[in-house]
Amino acid sequence: GATIGILGGGQLGRMLSVAASRLGFVTHIYEPGANPPAGQVADRLTTAGYEDAEALAAFAASVDVITYEFENIPTAALDILESHRPIRPGREALRISQDRLTEKNFLQDLGLKTAPFADITDQASLDTALAEIGAPAILKTRRFGYDGKGQARIKTLDDAQQALGDMAGAPALLEGFITFSHEVSVIAARGIKGDVSCYDPGENVHTDGILDTTTVPAKLSAGQRMDAVLLAANILNKLDYVGVMGVELFVTPQGLVVNEIAPRVHNSGHWTQNGCTVDQFEQHIRAVVGWPLGDGQRHSDVVMENLIGDDMDRVPELAKEADCALHLYGKAEVKPGRKMGHVNRVIRSQSK
Ligand code: ATP
Ligand code: MG
Ligand code: MG
Repeated sequence: GATIGILGGGQLGRMLSVAASRLGFVTHIYEPGANPPAGQVADRLTTAGYEDAEALAAFAASVDVITYEFENIPTAALDILESHRPIRPGREALRISQDRLTEKNFLQDLGLKTAPFADITDQASLDTALAEIGAPAILKTRRFGYDGKGQARIKTLDDAQQALGDMAGAPALLEGFITFSHEVSVIAARGIKGDVSCYDPGENVHTDGILDTTTVPAKLSAGQRMDAVLLAANILNKLDYVGVMGVELFVTPQGLVVNEIAPRVHNSGHWTQNGCTVDQFEQHIRAVVGWPLGDGQRHSDVVMENLIGDDMDRVPELAKEADCALHLYGKAEVKPGRKMGHVNRVIRSQSK
């Protein structure tokens, strides 16, 4: 069998590796950061170690195909890796999703709805954008944001000044605030021959900018469900995408608004581990090695809950719960806001 290279040693890389092992593949993980100590799971806060051309070339030469668990891989590193082995999903998906401005323009060019947005370079452009877009708004760094990091809610001009100062010159985007009834996401997969398969959309609740729960099925009409899946398929097709992608959506009376896309397996797809025959991790591995996509139909309703920071104290109780699958990441250190694991509560009386 093939050997699969995975960039990133966090929990997503780990769960991809487990899925690949189940299919008989060997995986090599590239995780050069000082964090983590050997054998432990990483938080990908920086791109440290991705400037080491020799290490990257050696890694690429040791595998047949390369995939990744995070989208912020530097272009120079990608150039080196790709000169040795194919990278899936491909470069275009990374180029688009590494920068919120590029991503929003891409989505609008596809005819999809996004929040109103403006590129912010200085105080003057922020003042202009705020006048146009109006308050409340959200200032976001264009690159490297996750779990709500690098974002500030803006109600007044004072907030705006403060927030821009905090960003210390990092390129930023101002987004108008979308009044949504709820948030959903589509976990979509596209195979090497262009076949697309979407999981049932999940309904996501965020607390302090971090995903708290995903519930399937989501509250959506048949029409909204169809819209969600079709727009996701549109995005994957446009990118000639191979692998699994997370597409985050706001549900509004005016229709679905695309928040952001993630060119990888996604936290809001963790429910598939206990709700589907083939989960998002196996689906991603199948796609990147050129296998046919698997059966992603939901066989059970599921509520996924993230275990963040001190939630780990609840593990002994959770371990006794019926119909509750524990997934712990083995991170050595508990930190506030750090994703430590998740549980999938499976609802046996399936709704159809
Ligand atoms: P992730 O961990 O999903 O990558 P992120 O740091 O990239 O998160 P976003 O997804 O942009 O952050 O925003 C986090 C959450 O903040 C969203 O799920 C939503 O609840 C809220 N949010 C973001 N942008 C907007 C907006 N324009 N209007 C209303 N709410 C928003
Ligand atoms: Mg994001
Ligand atoms: Mg998000």
